[in-house]
Amino acid sequence: MRDIGKVNHTLEILDRFELQAKKSFGQNFLVDINIIRNIVECAHIQENTCVVEIGPGIGGLTEYIARSAKKVIAYDIDERLKDVLAYSLSEYQNVEVRLQDFLTVDLQALAEELKEYDHFIIISNLPYYITSELLTKIMISSIKMDCFVGMMQKEVALKLTSKEKSPLRLMMDYVGEVKYEFTVTANVFIPKPKVDSAVISVTFKEMNKENLNDFYRFLLVCFKQRRKTIYNNLSLTAQDKDKLKEVLKTCNIDPKLRAEQLSLDQFKELYDLI
Ligand code: SAM
Repeated sequence: MRDIGKVNHTLEILDRFELQAKKSFGQNFLVDINIIRNIVECAHIQENTCVVEIGPGIGGLTEYIARSAKKVIAYDIDERLKDVLAYSLSEYQNVEVRLQDFLTVDLQALAEELKEYDHFIIISNLPYYITSELLTKIMISSIKMDCFVGMMQKEVALKLTSKEKSPLRLMMDYVGEVKYEFTVTANVFIPKPKVDSAVISVTFKEMNKENLNDFYRFLLVCFKQRRKTIYNNLSLTAQDKDKLKEVLKTCNIDPKLRAEQLSLDQFKELYDLI
């Protein structure tokens, strides 16, 4: 079917397959072709690109990704969508649907499988109930990616693109360049969610991605109790408190500062020395 994301087409598919959106899977289907186009444009898809989509739903966004990308691998947790997607995306031979929880996907193995492609992008109208988990999985992954484009609750998107520091926000800054792309009103979804959404993008840097997971764990410790000082939080796991004081001194970091008062560079220096 063409333009799955048109209201009447979406309703027709839902009706044909007697499909009710599952709240527990965060299912809100996008029914605005312009927004779909704009999301895909944010990814700047080039030749020989493989796009991994998390949560294709009934395929509205997938269809437009498939028109630009060489290959699309779309992961959805909802097994009811197997027949729906086979029907809605039947004319797109470059789409492969995998019915699997994306949180359980081995990204290293996936990247290995996709090494014939020059570019690797992740696009998602994210299931809201696991937005942070999915973002964290992507940001701490050591695989080489070009960019990530994702839609999430507007409030979360604003927070992640603000100056407010958090372990996830710092990781995003570390591995890429984060951008608030645009706001999406709640009216363009079936069923209509309670809040507005927004699209953000992360353009990844060329960098050595070793130890990202460890660095993220370190940031979690630094932010463990936000009102406590960096010294107190790091003391929770430090074997040698004198060494910790010494390292803070070497990095020129006042032990009485709180994590949110440190810069990304200071976290990196601290992490390298600890
Ligand atoms: N992409 C479609 C669109 O824009 O209309 C649907 C987006 S809907 C907000 C989120 C989709 O993610 C649903 O299809 C849902 O089944 C799927 N999903 C939820 N949890 C998932 C998970 N852990 N792994 C993969 N897909 C998941």
